Amino acid sequence: MTRKGGAQRIVVAGGAGYIGSHVCVELLQGGKSLLVIDDFSNSSPEALKRVREISGADIELLRADLADPAQEGAVIERVAKFRPDGAVHLAGLKAVGESVAEPMRYYRVNLGATLTLVKALDAAGARLVVFSSSATVYGERNANPVPETGALGPTNPYGRTKLFIEEMLRDLQRADERWKICNLRYFNPVGAHASGRLGEDPAGVPNNLFPYIAQVAVGRRATLAVFGNDYPTRDGTGVRDFIHVEDLARGHGAALDHLAGEKKGLALDVNLGTGRGYSVLEAVAAFKRASNRDIPYEIAPRREGDVAEIFADASLARALFGWRAEKSLDDMCADHWRWQRDNPDGYGRLKPQS
Ligand code: UDP
Repeated sequence: MTRKGGAQRIVVAGGAGYIGSHVCVELLQGGKSLLVIDDFSNSSPEALKRVREISGADIELLRADLADPAQEGAVIERVAKFRPDGAVHLAGLKAVGESVAEPMRYYRVNLGATLTLVKALDAAGARLVVFSSSATVYGERNANPVPETGALGPTNPYGRTKLFIEEMLRDLQRADERWKICNLRYFNPVGAHASGRLGEDPAGVPNNLFPYIAQVAVGRRATLAVFGNDYPTRDGTGVRDFIHVEDLARGHGAALDHLAGEKKGLALDVNLGTGRGYSVLEAVAAFKRASNRDIPYEIAPRREGDVAEIFADASLARALFGWRAEKSLDDMCADHWRWQRDNPDGYGRLKPQS
């Protein structure tokens, strides 16, 4: 539920993406009005159409690239006209491997989009941002569960853009105390909307575990490569804190309401995870049960930059927002599978599908 007098008019930058679309549904169901800004460079207008169907509410849309200086004027004007109370910022590039190959593009797009969004919000007098950050900002040597005070130290340019944006927002808040900032550090978002209508639609070969498993289950790919089985974990495979995307989306609503209820400006860093880890093989077994399909896999070498095990200390989100993840690994698999089965080609736009 939204609090009375809370942030009601929200700009959702990157609102058509995998997480953004679920955040939109959550906020609309909480009675908020939305302006989505998206350039659809890695998302589809079809996702927003389905968000409208699920929620029965309309969304304003500005199709714009926040990182393009030529579009800054139009963004500032439209945001001012919308009269927002704040923003959820999920606009950016997110492929780790690509970020290693093209770091300058990642810095330009992810940091540039943030600068424009902040400028537009400032001009509109809406000094409240919930930022889509990542557990990838943590260094490799933290003990589990990892609290927000854990050592920072991302291992690739994508992760560094997340950390730098967090730092930018913290600096902004120090310079102008009116700002209310919450950096949400996502662990491993998976699953899909329970309706089967929204989900992750990765371009090309999936980098992440769940979309890859799902494509193997549906028969689009032959075999999953399990990256390493000699880690010091229960079964030797990597352990991660998988969190259902609907729980994650609810965390954004809770963060917005929390910030809106604060009297003074502040900057928070908050983990969104379940607080427990599952191994790659446990995830494969759960997906197999949920889909009733075979998921052939083979053990492959470790992937560079991977840690053996990471899961969240999720207690801060609970203490501050009264939020906790509720859905199980089986829910994540069942919903992910429903989405994959009903939408084998995602939203069906033309993309390289090598
Ligand atoms: N993983 C795997 N095969 C894949 C993709 C991922 O074995 O095709 C493993 C990966 O090594 C890690 C876990 O699955 O232990 C989660 O990886 P993912 O890329 O989904 O998220 P990350 O934790 O790296 O952000």
